[in-house]
Amino acid sequence: MNYLSTRGLPTQERTPRGFSDILLEGLAPDGGLYLPERYPHIDAATLARWRVLAAASYADLAFEILSLYITDIPPEDLRGLVRKTYTTEVFGTPEITPLKALEPGLELQALSNGPTLAFKDMAMQLLGNLFEYELARRGETLNILGATSGDTGSAAEHAMRGKEGVRVFMLSPHGRMSPFQQAQMFSLQDANIHNLVIEGVFDDCQDIVKAVSNDLPFKRRHRIGTVNSINWARLLAQVVYYFAGYFQATKTNDERVSFAVPSGNFGNVCAGHVARMMGLPIERLIVATNENDVLDEFFRTGSYRVRAACDTHETSSPSMDISKASNFERFVFDLLGHDARAAERTRQLFGEQIANSGGFTLSAEEFARVREFGFVSGRSTHADRVATIRDTHARFGITIDPHTADGLKVGRQLRQPGTTTLVLETALPIKFAATIIEALGHEPERPAGYEGLELLPKRFKVMPASSEAVKACIAENCG
Ligand SMILES: *Cc1c(COP(=O)(O)O)cnc(C)c1O
Repeated sequence: MNYLSTRGLPTQERTPRGFSDILLEGLAPDGGLYLPERYPHIDAATLARWRVLAAASYADLAFEILSLYITDIPPEDLRGLVRKTYTTEVFGTPEITPLKALEPGLELQALSNGPTLAFKDMAMQLLGNLFEYELARRGETLNILGATSGDTGSAAEHAMRGKEGVRVFMLSPHGRMSPFQQAQMFSLQDANIHNLVIEGVFDDCQDIVKAVSNDLPFKRRHRIGTVNSINWARLLAQVVYYFAGYFQATKTNDERVSFAVPSGNFGNVCAGHVARMMGLPIERLIVATNENDVLDEFFRTGSYRVRAACDTHETSSPSMDISKASNFERFVFDLLGHDARAAERTRQLFGEQIANSGGFTLSAEEFARVREFGFVSGRSTHADRVATIRDTHARFGITIDPHTADGLKVGRQLRQPGTTTLVLETALPIKFAATIIEALGHEPERPAGYEGLELLPKRFKVMPASSEAVKACIAENCG
């Protein structure tokens, strides 16, 4: 399987790239995002076989799906990496992503039982093993530089801790994460994990990452890489749980299922889109946003309008607080036909119109196709989250986190009678205790093994919001 860019690489760059080439890369050289040249179509016989396989082993289902897209790692090696990743020890149950019934036709799919209690572990844990494997194979090392306001940073650190050939430098804004999230990162004592606490806000952290990455000689000399949500391997790993959820929720492959997805950077729901393109019988992909409703606005109107920093709200579902959805370009490229003409138009929309005027509006004809792709959307607010958390606790005895509450609120609004809807549970409530206390009047339950986490010794280095300070730290391996 070869990979192409959503913006169509210029001719001199058009050497075919395999999975392991793009694994360690970020954006394509033309500024686009990598996608497979085509989506393999899963025929009825294969889907029937996978249903049986999925009932026995999530890891073996994952291997089947991944091996369609990863053709440059020997199958036995890939199987080993996948089996090492998706274990009961790491994810808490043999199902890995078990369902929890709410009411008839409405279920939660638990994606947040990995080490950091958010769905990002589903992909990041695999990425850690893939990076270690590929770097060893190439005899290379990598310094991962990232900025986080919470879930991404801790998932990355827990996936990369102790891995050969990888160091992580994770920037976070001083005093902005929840105490639990902070403790998850700062309590790590592994020598290859470096927590850099920046005297500034999240945007300052992101600006520093950009500035360091734009210093090409520095980037090359220190082999700087990222693990951000545009990484294709992360998206691919997430495709698997749509299949796993579908098989658990249905008895035969004639049934259809909808998914409601709490969305920020469009990585999670884009994986659902890929599963649907492969032929998984998905009826609706329900995009749920919070007050930062860039995506909801697009799916209602066909206009995609990037928000300014001052128009980006800090909400009680902070992992969905985005000004633009970084994976969205992938969907637009598919919507436009996934070919050379689509690449031309995608380059126009994302490379020119967004750069020049901060957004674009699709033609009526282009926008009409959105419905064929199963997408609908809705928006949820702080009051909705609190009410949904309260209602779910009262009626089902289940405490959900604020992001999952956004998904449930919108999912309930847009589900259709007769089709089961799975709401993706993207984090456990303990990560966002303040909102749970507001809704329920008491602390959320703490999963076993996380007692006293906030009291463990912390390892971090505070530094000014300066890219030079961060560069010096990377060069000296500080923190
Ligand atoms: C990252 C995250 C999201 C948003 O996922 P995207 O892939 O960015 O759309 C939603 N909920 C939680 C808890 C998250 O950590």
